[in-house]
Amino acid sequence: MLHKLAELEESAARAIEGAKNSKELGELRVRYLGKKGALTALLRRMGELPPEQRPRAGKRANALRSKLERLLEQGEERLREAAAASRVEEERIDVTLPGAPFNPGQKHPLTLVLEEITAIFTGLGFQVARGPEIESDYYNFEALNLPPDHPARDMHDSFYFTDQILLRTHTSPVQIRTMELKAPALPVRIIAPGKVYRRDDDATHSPMFHQVEGLAVDRGVTFADLKGTLLAFVQEMFDRGQSIRLRPSFFPFTEPSAEVDIACIICRGKGCRVCGHSGWLEILGCGMVHPRVLEVSGYDPEDVTGFAFGMGVERIAMLKYGIDDLRLLFSNDLRFLRQFR
Ligand SMILES: [Zn+2]
Repeated sequence: MLHKLAELEESAARAIEGAKNSKELGELRVRYLGKKGALTALLRRMGELPPEQRPRAGKRANALRSKLERLLEQGEERLREAAAASRVEEERIDVTLPGAPFNPGQKHPLTLVLEEITAIFTGLGFQVARGPEIESDYYNFEALNLPPDHPARDMHDSFYFTDQILLRTHTSPVQIRTMELKAPALPVRIIAPGKVYRRDDDATHSPMFHQVEGLAVDRGVTFADLKGTLLAFVQEMFDRGQSIRLRPSFFPFTEPSAEVDIACIICRGKGCRVCGHSGWLEILGCGMVHPRVLEVSGYDPEDVTGFAFGMGVERIAMLKYGIDDLRLLFSNDLRFLRQFR
């Protein structure tokens, strides 16, 4: 009997030591100490022993029961500690690991270009002015020296709400609105960025696009001031060595008027497919404010002069980033948009 108890002690201790989880420990508890357990079975056979051996064997069996209880308890404790330790190991922060990737939003290329244009002109002393996108015929055309029967209106395929109300076709109405508010105060130096609308839709035209208007009015403003301002802008926007070319043109609200070209940014003026082998790329229209426009806005054209310019933001963005289809700017394809930061 004592020999069997010793055997049981050894095998039980080894099994408890090797238990990998509390389920296994629970099974061992049943196997050794349960109603049909090994120790219980031995105790039942105690009666078969000669009476003089019973007290010693009984004492030994009780000691073994206590020991197994204690071992099982310790086994539970050991498993709890091991689990806690492995959790700590899992949660340990390794500062040498690469960071988890996340996707921050970013600005649309047109927003980036608009912000850059605005920053350049505010740096030159211009303020930002804004006007409504739903405009009256008066501000969109008439005050800009485009009376109802003027042929130049045909160039503006417009969205009309009524005979007199339309989506503005350019940002030039902001010139009139600003001068009306300010006159006769001098100087006026504003840029007017914003959306404009025309009935066009192809690879180089969108029914909605962005313009930035510029206006400077003061005593003694000359065409040289206009050219210097635009050269400074172009060199800041594209390249320090960038040159410009002015070609005579016509706009009803400026006189004289000019189209401004920059030396082709692809071929640097040598001639390529992008510039139609001319070496030049058109970027904006400009001129000296027409005396009649000054007059309707409250300024005396005998006293003050001014220059104005208007550029397409999409055009600038396409040239700056080498984008060949305007529609990419409005299709919201993230593979395209993610390229700009
Ligand atoms: Zn070229």
